[in-house]
Parts: sequence; C-alpha cells; structure tokens
Amino acid sequence: MDFIDLRSDTVTWPTPEMREAMANAPVGDDVYGEDPTVNQLEAESAAMLGKEAGLFVTSGTMGNVTAALTHCGRGEEMIVGREAHMFRYEAGSSAALGGIHPHIIDVQPDGTLPLEALRRAIRGDNEHFPRTKLICLENTQGTIGGIPISAAYTVQVGEIAREHGLRMHIDGARIFNAAAALGVPARELVAPADSVSFCLSKGLCAPVGSVLVGSKAFIHEARRIRKSLGGGMRQAGILAAAGLIAVRKMTTRLHEDHANACRLAEGLAAIPHLNIDVSRVQTNMLFFDLEESAPVSPAAFSQRLKEEARVVIGPYPGYTRRFRMVTHYWITPERVEQTLEAVRRVLA
Ligand SMILES: *Cc1c(COP(=O)(O)O)cnc(C)c1O
Repeated sequence: MDFIDLRSDTVTWPTPEMREAMANAPVGDDVYGEDPTVNQLEAESAAMLGKEAGLFVTSGTMGNVTAALTHCGRGEEMIVGREAHMFRYEAGSSAALGGIHPHIIDVQPDGTLPLEALRRAIRGDNEHFPRTKLICLENTQGTIGGIPISAAYTVQVGEIAREHGLRMHIDGARIFNAAAALGVPARELVAPADSVSFCLSKGLCAPVGSVLVGSKAFIHEARRIRKSLGGGMRQAGILAAAGLIAVRKMTTRLHEDHANACRLAEGLAAIPHLNIDVSRVQTNMLFFDLEESAPVSPAAFSQRLKEEARVVIGPYPGYTRRFRMVTHYWITPERVEQTLEAVRRVLA
C-alpha cells in the first residue's frame, strides 16, 4: 500500500495470497448454484456464524437491504438506530426499494439501543400504524467509534423480538472485530439473530463482497431478492476465493489492528492540540478533535500530513475539527510510529 491510508478499513488492498487464490480459483455459474468457490465461502461463513446457509453479495449495503427486503414487506416497519449505517448511509434503500418504514431510536454511547425505547417502538395492532417486523442492530457500531456489542445485550434484544414475533437482523459489517475485542467466537454474538451480514472487504482485506447468513429458508428467499437487485453474479468464485482467505485467515489477526489503534490513540493523546478519549478506542477505530489552539487549520492539517508524510486521514462528517483514523492489515506498528511522528511535526 503506497500511502499510510487511515481513512477507513475499506481501503485495504487484497494480500498477495488473495491475488494468487483469485487467479487459480475453480469457478462455475453461481446463478445456477454451480460455482464451487462461492458455495464453499457461503458454507464456511454460515458455519462460522452458527447459521444454516449463506449468500455472497456484492457489498454490505446489498447484504443489509437484501435482509430487510426478505424480512419485511411494503408498509412494514424496521426498528433501527439513528446512528446505524442502515439508516444513515445506505441511500434510503430499504424505504426506496422495499417500502419499509424505518423507526429510529437513538444509539447510546455504548452502541446499544436502550431496551425500554426498543419496547416502546414496537407497535400494537392498530390500523393507524405500520406493522413492526424487524429489529436491526449493528456490531461493531461504527459511527459512534467501532464499539463492540456484547452477547448478553444481543440475547436481551432477541428475547424482546421473540416475545413480539419480530425478526432480528445484525449488520455485522465488522462482527469479527467485535469478536476479537470481546474475546468470544463471532457466532456467540449473533446467536439470537435471524440474519447477519458481514463485510469481507474491510478489515478482512478482500477486494469485494459481503456475506449474508441465516436459515436455509431465509437464504432461499434472499437469493431471489439478490437477483432482483442485480446481485446475481456468474463466475464470482474469482472474488469468493479472496473471501475464503478473508474468513479463514484474516479473522484471526484483527486483535493486531486493535492493538495498533490503541498505540496510535495513546500516541495522539500525548501530542498537544489534540483531544482524544483513549478509553473509547475498543476496536480498530479512533476519533480525535483538533483543538482551536492548533497552529494549523483542520484542512491544512490533513493536507500537510498527506503531502509531507503520505499519511491520509478523513474528516469526520458533520464536525469541523474532528478526524477519524482506522487501522487495518496495511497499518503496521512501524506505520503507526511514522504517523505519530508526522502529526507531531505538523503540529510543532
Ligand atoms: C461498511 C459498512 C456497511 C456496508 O458498506 P458497503 O460499502 O456497502 O460495503 C454496512 N454497515 C456498516 C456498519 C459498515 O461499516
């Protein structure tokens, strides 16, 4: 990777091993169900998350909207966090494509939806109301800092869902980061969920794709929705080959990214003019503010980091002085040190 690119873990390049596996992947027509590499990826992903079946999709957004459209019909409602990716960053797709009404609840600083608010959001049987169908959680919760959500909390939400005959979907774009941070197998974090999607192309380094998992009956329906969204791919084993390395090998090293994020956060905390809450750095993500006292403007800060040290960071949307850094496979401890050195220089 030619820059120290800390904007996101989506910027990760595939590893040399992935490129080689892609070149040599056995393939077939996946719409006919005949691509052995896709079938293998779907089966291994489902097994890792303790579900019956999987579906390879083009992106996390496609995984989430496919799940929403499979669980809910037009005029039905899904409960989702105001800060959730599904509400904020998916182009309104479940409403636009599925006529699904989002019922939003504020996400707490610990990444959870308060259980009382969740209970209140569930509609009674009344002709004025949309019918509540689905509860969506996000783990790790990205916009509030990559915070992992515990299995115990998820079980409580699952109980509420069952009590009211609702389905539960987990946007597990970074579920393996949550598993690494909490020291539990990912399947325990999603046990009560009817469906889960996770990204292959973030911290797991694959170039493209996500996997949606659930029961056989759910995935059977979801395949048809995926087709209708234009997600029926043919010799997709070329992509799934990288995904297999992602789930087999990259899921076991994410604690390294978390350690690097901690090192980075502690280093930043010691630099004047930066404000960072190190205690909130629990996975591979950190946010910090450039204080008014800084000798450079926010724009000059990021521009100089890029020009003088090839360090790329992203402004945090909605804030004028906030930045985000995300660690990943290509951010080695050495690159963490180079980043800290560059920040010290620019703020000196
Ligand atoms: C990245 C992400 C997604 C999916 O994003 P795509 O860019 O469509 O792959 C979904 N949910 C969360 C929480 C994410 O971080």
